[in-house]
Amino acid sequence: MQTNQYQQIADLIFPDVTLSTEEIFARYPRRELRDGQVVTRYAPSPTGMMHIGNFFQAFISYNLAKNTDGVLFLRIEDTDEKRKVQSAREVIYHILDEYDIKFDEYQTLDGKDVGAYGPYVQSQRTEIYKAFAKKLVAEGKAFPCFCKKTEGKDDVLKQRQTKFAEDDEKEYDPCRDLSFDEVKKHIDNGESFAVRLRTKNTGSERVKFYDLIKGQLEAKANAKDFVLLKSDGVPPYAFAHAIDDTLMGTTVVVRGEEYISSTPAHIELFEALGFKPIKYCHNPLICKIGDNGNRRKISKRYDPEADMRFYSDEGYPKEAVLEYLLGMINSGFEIWRKNNPDKPWQDFKFGIDDITTVAPIFDIIKLNDISKNIISTYSGEKLYSCWLDWAEKNDSKLAEILKSDRQKFIGLCAMDRDGSPKPRKDIYNMKMMKEYFSYMFDSPAQFEIDPADHQNANALLDAYLQSFEMPESNEDWFNHVKAVAAAVGYATDNKLYKQNPENFKGNIAKACEYIRVAITGRKNSPTLFNIIELLGESETKKRLSHRF
Ligand code: GLU
Repeated sequence: MQTNQYQQIADLIFPDVTLSTEEIFARYPRRELRDGQVVTRYAPSPTGMMHIGNFFQAFISYNLAKNTDGVLFLRIEDTDEKRKVQSAREVIYHILDEYDIKFDEYQTLDGKDVGAYGPYVQSQRTEIYKAFAKKLVAEGKAFPCFCKKTEGKDDVLKQRQTKFAEDDEKEYDPCRDLSFDEVKKHIDNGESFAVRLRTKNTGSERVKFYDLIKGQLEAKANAKDFVLLKSDGVPPYAFAHAIDDTLMGTTVVVRGEEYISSTPAHIELFEALGFKPIKYCHNPLICKIGDNGNRRKISKRYDPEADMRFYSDEGYPKEAVLEYLLGMINSGFEIWRKNNPDKPWQDFKFGIDDITTVAPIFDIIKLNDISKNIISTYSGEKLYSCWLDWAEKNDSKLAEILKSDRQKFIGLCAMDRDGSPKPRKDIYNMKMMKEYFSYMFDSPAQFEIDPADHQNANALLDAYLQSFEMPESNEDWFNHVKAVAAAVGYATDNKLYKQNPENFKGNIAKACEYIRVAITGRKNSPTLFNIIELLGESETKKRLSHRF
C-alpha cells in the first residue's frame, strides 16, 4: 500500500484528532535528573481491593525513589471498564495512606493533578492515546480493525483463530491489508473499529532484553497484531504503558514478573512509536506453599492475606507489615534489623541490585514474630491507643469498654512491658487482644487444669482465700503465697522438693499455677500481682472462690 494511503486512512478514521504528538511532547518536558535519581511509579488498576503483590511492588517503587532522592508518582490505570469498581480508587488511596506511602505526583480524589505530568488517571488521557494511534496508522505501523465482537462468540475471530492455527508463527489480523476504499466502506457503514499494531515480525525472530532484576533475557519476538485502541477509543495496558511511561519520564518500570511474557510486545511498541527503550525491573511474585507442598502464587481466591485489608482488619501494626515486606525484598534487612534494633525501617537503604531474584514465600508465622517484636517495644499507653484505635474501627462495643476505664486498660497493656528489661513477646495483632486478655472482661469460663489436680488445687485455694489480703507489691504477693502454700504442704525450696518430691503436694510453682488458673483460666499469664491489682479485691476473691 502506498504511504499516502496510510495517511488517508488515519485522517479518515480519526477526523477529530488534530492534536499532534509533537504538541503532546511539548507539554511533557524532560525531567532534569541527577545521576542515579530514579523516576518510578505505582500504576494500580482500580479493582476494589489491593493485592499484597501490588502493594509489594508499590513499596519497592517507593523505596527506590526515596533511596535515590528520585520521584515517585501514582498513575491510576482505569482503562478496563470491565474491571472498574465503584470506590476502588478510594480503596487504593486509603491503603497507601495508611502505610504512609507518599507520592510526589498524583491526582487527588477530587480530581486535582499534583505534578506537571498529568493527568495521572488514564481515562483522562484518551486524546493523547488517540493522537499516537493516528500517527502509527499514518505511518503504516497500525491499522483499523473492524472485526466485530458479538455476544458470546465472534465469527470473524473464530475464522481468524482457524487462520492462526494454520500458521501459529504469527497472528496477523485479517484487517491488516484493507485498502483505503475498503476502510472507507466500513466507516461509511458506521462501523466501529479497534486499532491494531501491524507487527513487523514474522514469528521466527527473537528479542533480547535486559531486566534490572533478572539480567539478560531472551524470548520470541512479538508477531501478533495486538490491539492498541479498543473500539471505545480506550487503550489496553500495553499502548497506555508505552505512551505514559515515556511522556511521564519514568526511568525504571517496576512491575510484577507476570509482565515478562508480554515485554517483547512492549519492546516492539516502543520501537514503532520511536520511543527510547525503557528499563524494566520485574519483581518476583509473592508465593505460598499450597496444601500439596508446592509453591503457588498468593491468591485472593484462597488466601485472605492476599488482600491488604486483611492486615488492618486483624490489627497488625503497619511497621510490622512493612518490615516483613522489606525482609522479602532483601534478606539483608533481617541482619540490619538485628544490628540496628532501634532505628526506623526507613534508614534501611536498598537499590535495584539488592532486590531478591527468587519468589519470596509468604509465612504468617514470620509476620507474627516480627509483629510480636515490634509490639513488645510499645509502652502500655501506646499499645492501649493502638488497641482502642483498632476497636473503634472494628468492634465498637469493645471500644466503649476500653474507654470506660482507660487507666485500667492502660495498666493491662503495660503489664510485663513498661520498664521491663524483658518485655513479653506475646501479642502480634490487635484482634487477638480481647481473647488474650479475656479474663479482664469476664470471669474465666474454662480452666486449663488437669482433673487429677482438682482436689489439691481446691484445698490450696481454700487456704489462700481465707487469708487473702490485697498485696502491695509483687514481693508481698509472692511471700504471702509462699506462706500459704508451705502451710498446706508445698515445697518453697525447689532443691528440697527435687530431693524428696513425695514429701510434698507440689512445689511453689505448682501452687502459683493453681491460683493463676483460678483467676485467669490459664496456666500462662502476665504477672499475677498486676492482674490482681487491676481486677481489685472483690473480683479477685470471687475468682478465688471458684472450685474445680
Ligand atoms: N495496571 C497494571 C497492574 O495493575 C500496572 C502494571 C505496571 O506497573 O506497569 O497490573
